[in-house]
Amino acid sequence: MKYECHGHIIADGVSYQEAMARHKGGIDAAYVHKALKTVAAHGIGFYRDGGDKYMVSAFAKKIAGEYGVDYRTPVFISHKAGYYGSMYGRSFENMREFHALILEAKAQGADFVKLTVSGMLDFDDGGRIMGPVFSGPELREAVKISNGEGFSVMAHVNGADNIKAALEAGVDSVEHGFWPDGDVIDYFLQTGAVWVPTCVAVYNLIDTGRYSGDTMRKIHEAQRRVLAEAYARGVPIASGSDCGAWMVRQGQGTDDELAVLAGMGIDPEKGNRAVAERFRRL
Ligand SMILES: [Zn+2]
Repeated sequence: MKYECHGHIIADGVSYQEAMARHKGGIDAAYVHKALKTVAAHGIGFYRDGGDKYMVSAFAKKIAGEYGVDYRTPVFISHKAGYYGSMYGRSFENMREFHALILEAKAQGADFVKLTVSGMLDFDDGGRIMGPVFSGPELREAVKISNGEGFSVMAHVNGADNIKAALEAGVDSVEHGFWPDGDVIDYFLQTGAVWVPTCVAVYNLIDTGRYSGDTMRKIHEAQRRVLAEAYARGVPIASGSDCGAWMVRQGQGTDDELAVLAGMGIDPEKGNRAVAERFRRL
């Protein structure tokens, strides 16, 4: 059985705009059934969604059993207003609002909390990390509130210092983790957190011509070097492709990620089991 530890069932790897339009006026149930059928046809029995703003992943969770898929979802991403996350999430201004938001997710069937710590990478600008960073006491507080509600925390984060801040705050998994440095490994080992590198979210874009191949290769190489060492030193690394993102198709993306990890000599089994164990409703 394969694991997809970071996907967005709402999206199709082709057009974000069209994917959102499909469900904006109400969930397109036939589409979600078809997507889950594709997932199952690829031998994927576990799917951890990163959430979306139209309740599509929450609906997918309800019907995933029909396809033999153990489905986990945060329902939506929680992000601080003005920070990255509006593509797939809901925003909060302060900790009181944050708490209310995750209680709402809980009522809608959430299995865990997904937080955004830093922004996405600007592929048109050398892979620069965009936007402000949610960190410090507020991030620690958000993790504490989540844990208090029985939730593990999945953190979208890029950049060495941001990854360290997230791990220090106690998140359970680092998603993406592009632009790491060698020191992040100690933080992973001290906290026992899982790394879900979503390599193909960058790797699949290397030769598309849409962005500089050089930039994409540099981002991938910088992550690959640290990942290989992290794996050698015992950090649990899980396979999640960010399927739904551009050039990362449902099902195929999972296979692509497994191939890239295998190319680095990484067996994600330990990481995948850790994700399945920790990211569930208590
Ligand atoms: Zn994602």
